[in-house]
Amino acid sequence: MAFPGDPRSDAKVTRYAHALDGDADGERERLAAHVARVHEGEPRVGFPAVLGEDHPAEIRAALADALDADVFEVPMGPPSLPGIRLEYAYRDALGEAGVHVVRRPVVDYETDGDGRLTAAVVERNGQHVPHYADSFVLATGGLVGKGLDSDRGGVREPVFDCHVPHPADRYDWFVDDVYGEQPYPRFGVVVDDDLRPRDADGRIEFENLRAAGSVVGGHDFAAECSGTGVSLATGDAAGTAAGSDTQ
Ligand SMILES: Cc1cc2nc3c(=O)[nH]c(=O)nc-3n(C[C@H](O)[C@H](O)[C@H](O)COP(=O)(O)OP(=O)(O)OC[C@H]3O[C@@H](n4cnc5c(N)ncnc54)[C@H](O)[C@@H]3O)c2cc1C
Repeated sequence: MAFPGDPRSDAKVTRYAHALDGDADGERERLAAHVARVHEGEPRVGFPAVLGEDHPAEIRAALADALDADVFEVPMGPPSLPGIRLEYAYRDALGEAGVHVVRRPVVDYETDGDGRLTAAVVERNGQHVPHYADSFVLATGGLVGKGLDSDRGGVREPVFDCHVPHPADRYDWFVDDVYGEQPYPRFGVVVDDDLRPRDADGRIEFENLRAAGSVVGGHDFAAECSGTGVSLATGDAAGTAAGSDTQ
């Protein structure tokens, strides 16, 4: 059914959400009345995920009250309000935890000369600026995110130069069967049980470096449909381990 009123046809998802957030013309009540006309006492009512950017809980509660039913949202494609809300919640949580975010490319690193990283060096206005920490997590993505770099000569992890095993002959990086077991999607750094990247001899690259997400090798996210799952699981584990290092 159509959203009540006459929202402009562009950017509908956010316009619906903002209208419900502001509720300036009683949009919440009007939407509930609209749905009530076809609601035959079902205990649960699903709406497209447009129920507000800033006040989703309030809007769901208002609709639930008006319809006397549980109200839930059905996720949709981009632009995804639940994704936007999650990003805001993440930013708020970082702010509350006192996290300082620097959005610059990491171009180099410093060590103590004894196997520990001391700084990630970012590039800012042509200057190299070190950011010091007790612990580091490499989460720069895979071949698409540029966390792994490749050319005819080989595959490498460009930030910390961690070892990325791959066949010497680049014709062995793939098989001709497009849907076959392709080797290249599994390229990535090799980690120990604590998610610390290992070098070609199996030794830890840096005591206080963990890796998470697509930069970690051994999985084929497209074939396994495992991309976000691997990223979430390894991100949680790597972040937790890094946090325990610094306590
Ligand atoms: C077309 C496509 C469709 C996909 N669809 C799905 C799907 O439907 N479901 C699913 O589960 N997975 C999907 N995936 C996989 C999923 O996107 C990845 O598994 C996931 O994004 C990996 O997360 P990540 O954090 O490891 O890396 P990324 O999301 O790639 O993030 C890495 C970040 O690090 C940054 N970065 C890189 N180098 C540096 C540097 N030197 N300094 C600072 N920052 C740097 C990059 O800019 C990027 O922001 C898809 C991937 C692609 C390419």
